[in-house]
Amino acid sequence: MLELPELDHVRGALTNRFAGAPITGIEVTNSKTFQVNVDEWRKDIVGAVVWFIERRGKHLLFHLDNGKRLILHLTQAAYLYIGSAEDAPDKTAQVQIKFGERFVYAVGLRSESIKLLSVREVEEMFSELGADPLDKKLTLNRFIDRFAKKRSSIRQALLDTSILNAIGSAYADEILFRAGLLPDAKIPLLEKETWERLYEAMHNVLQEAISYGGAGDYPFAADDQLTGGYISKFKVYNREGEPCPTCGAAILKLEQSGRKAYYCGTCQKDK
Ligand SMILES: [Zn+2]
Repeated sequence: MLELPELDHVRGALTNRFAGAPITGIEVTNSKTFQVNVDEWRKDIVGAVVWFIERRGKHLLFHLDNGKRLILHLTQAAYLYIGSAEDAPDKTAQVQIKFGERFVYAVGLRSESIKLLSVREVEEMFSELGADPLDKKLTLNRFIDRFAKKRSSIRQALLDTSILNAIGSAYADEILFRAGLLPDAKIPLLEKETWERLYEAMHNVLQEAISYGGAGDYPFAADDQLTGGYISKFKVYNREGEPCPTCGAAILKLEQSGRKAYYCGTCQKDK
């Protein structure tokens, strides 16, 4: 699985290894699918120094010292692997970013998942996407505003990428459990105090998951021991029938618009 904490975990690993390093090469297999002119790109990318790597939603942005941003959009089946010519991932990587002997492999990318943009183009692109849940500019009031006029259940809204970008099924369940709120709680019925609980729960769950290395399926490097450390910490997600860690009642599952939601029917309320 790949949601915000998994992406942030990889962002940290990339920043630790490559901030300040020059890119020495880039390969894109099947570049027609990706609508990338690799030879043109090389003029901008090869020799450029990566200042740092930023995460926005499920995008990783390599900030280059020439003002360009190399962007990878990691959707569900995608992952990154930091290796070398000899130490490559099992699956075919569509993109290889080279830092001397060290390579960043990107596997499972969809078409249009890789872009090279100017700062202005980046802002245009992200103005159409939902807010990043951990963006410092997303204050409690702005958080509440984003749900205004929505009449759906709270869980459906948490998964709506036009409202918030990069929360998926697993963390929606964990956040709602932490906030004590049922997945089918109706947005118009929620009061300020409930929004405060939800906002705090979202920050706490996501930060905690990042600190445990997230719940990703693939290690980002041969020596990576941390990735997936949060899988054992999930309290309700994928735990149907197991006892609730707070009250002991069996964790329940419901289908919501074709997606499974896990929750405790005792600890979680409708507002
Ligand atoms: Zn419970």
